Amino acid sequence: MLFLNRSKMTAILGGGISGLSAAYYCLENPKLGSIALYEASNRLGGWIKSKETPSGHIFEKGPRTIRPGGLAGKNTLELIDKLNLTNKIISIDRNHPAARNRLIYVDKQLHVLPNSLTSLFKVNKPFDRRLISIILNDLKAPKSPKEDESIYSFVERRLGKDVADYLISPMICGICAGDAKKISVNFLMKPIFKLEQKYGSITKGVLLNQLKQFFDKTFKTSKNQDLGKIKDCQLTERSQKEQWSVWSLTGGLEQLPIMLESHISSKPNIHLEKEALCDQITFKQDTVELSINGKVTEHRRIISSLSAKSLAPLLKKQHPKLSKELEDIPFVTVAVINLHFPGNVLPMKAFGFLVPPQENLPILGMIFDSCIVQYSENTVLTVMMGGAWFDKYFGNSPTQDEILSIAVNHAKSILNIKQDPVEHDVSILKDCIPQYVVGHNQRLQRIDNYISAHKIPMALCGSSYKGVGLNDVILSAKEAVSHIAS
Ligand SMILES: Cc1cc2nc3c(=O)[nH]c(=O)nc-3n(C[C@H](O)[C@H](O)[C@H](O)COP(=O)(O)OP(=O)(O)OC[C@H]3O[C@@H](n4cnc5c(N)ncnc54)[C@H](O)[C@@H]3O)c2cc1C
Repeated sequence: MLFLNRSKMTAILGGGISGLSAAYYCLENPKLGSIALYEASNRLGGWIKSKETPSGHIFEKGPRTIRPGGLAGKNTLELIDKLNLTNKIISIDRNHPAARNRLIYVDKQLHVLPNSLTSLFKVNKPFDRRLISIILNDLKAPKSPKEDESIYSFVERRLGKDVADYLISPMICGICAGDAKKISVNFLMKPIFKLEQKYGSITKGVLLNQLKQFFDKTFKTSKNQDLGKIKDCQLTERSQKEQWSVWSLTGGLEQLPIMLESHISSKPNIHLEKEALCDQITFKQDTVELSINGKVTEHRRIISSLSAKSLAPLLKKQHPKLSKELEDIPFVTVAVINLHFPGNVLPMKAFGFLVPPQENLPILGMIFDSCIVQYSENTVLTVMMGGAWFDKYFGNSPTQDEILSIAVNHAKSILNIKQDPVEHDVSILKDCIPQYVVGHNQRLQRIDNYISAHKIPMALCGSSYKGVGLNDVILSAKEAVSHIAS
């Protein structure tokens, strides 16, 4: 057995997808030598969990689909390619009903959200005007110079209250189970916010940017900085050719952390420890002392993939100011209820539906899993409940039976299902999604400044900082590794 001298090692805290990805990227970098990964629970993968039911259906307890686009999307596909997971990909193209049909539930009815150019010229319920008129709204609305504001107030003042209520609020429930009235526009919709701040309106900004891109392309004046770092691999090329909207994996998304675990644990220079809870971090002159299950081990530097909420108490003694910044990032709890009904009981093929918060229902939305990735005669769906409104609807400690009965009753009444589910699973995911509230960018800047000013040998990755999607957290791990390597 190899003797691993941990005082020279980089330690990674947390074995969710960002910690596992950080381990993968560290092991690819010869500069970093050996690494140790400490995970508090008895399994790796964090919130990614795919459970196979006795009848062979997959119940996703956390994430279920990933977008292929953008730099972060390409980066994940490159990782999938390198891990030889390509043959497990299930892709959903743009014309698939699950990609085209996204629904909202308003006034006790399901409505298909506009999904084509022509639908912008019609009045689509629950809106009572043609959506094309939002462009006029935007052109008329005065610019309001601001550093940040909530997504809801930005959209309400530029595009109208109906767009804020029926499009943006449910969309924020779908992205982060959050309240659009609290989430930062300068973080989640930064490019659009910047267009307003620069050009006075989103529409003008889009048109002027398109014009600029046209000239840049025609006269080749711009350097392509954007796509510089991540090149297209075969899989990204395939995703573009086949026009994927989202993708998943056969057997569920947990196949990704399973494959990462098997890849990294086959390397000689890794020490991987489960049931290893870090309860204190102390930075010394040239080393970092970690208390793991009460025992101290020394490391050279650390990458923390823990949520800000879990990391904050570990730093409190030595860096109370930094700890407070981390602690102030709020989190929400989500109840995830997976249901299996015999036969096809859904009213239409769609991704699922979201419920605008103003409907005052205890559910955030439902995902029609059997329309997205499971092609069987049966119906599998997931009900998401709680989020920013968890306490309002369920109090401090609802029982699983209470949660199940609310979910089943709503599924049956909204979707007009007569029978009961034959299989179910309930999970209450405590503090599972961070909320990027107004001022999040400034908080990240203060955290970065503090770490560099105090020369703390620690890099941060994971969902608490620069994006909650799987693509974002995998890319954050890659960036954290490249930061500590340099
Ligand atoms: C219900 C739900 C649905 C989602 N759906 C999607 C989706 O469809 N698509 C998408 O792209 N994203 C989705 N997401 C987001 C995505 O799943 C998460 O952002 C991502 O999994 C977070 O990974 P992470 O590694 O940053 O954190 P985590 O998964 O939280 O991992 C952190 C790890 O650190 C460990 N840990 C904590 N404290 C300690 C300690 N003191 N010492 C050692 N270890 C510790 C934990 O046990 C955990 O394993 C969803 C999230 C949820 C909750």
